[in-house]
Amino acid sequence: MKETGIIRGLDNMGRVVIPKEIRKFLDMTEGVDEFEIYMQDDSIILKKHKPACVFCGESENCIEFENQKICKNCVEKMQLLKEETLNI
Ligand SMILES: [Zn+2]
Repeated sequence: MKETGIIRGLDNMGRVVIPKEIRKFLDMTEGVDEFEIYMQDDSIILKKHKPACVFCGESENCIEFENQKICKNCVEKMQLLKEETLNI
């Protein structure tokens, strides 16, 4: 974990502003990108959310189907499964 030296307060609504330089470093767009929130001991970890394949977790080469992400590898596996199933 890299120390930034940045200290930010929690406002009375429970919000924290992520410093602009960190948002820029993570290539995050306000109002679009999301964080995944993790807890570890007394720490809160924010991780940039990358929509990923619902089957294997791959985040590259995904297509959207029924509001879910599916990677090309899993689409190919489903095609093989379909072919195998039809041959039974
Ligand atoms: Zn996949």
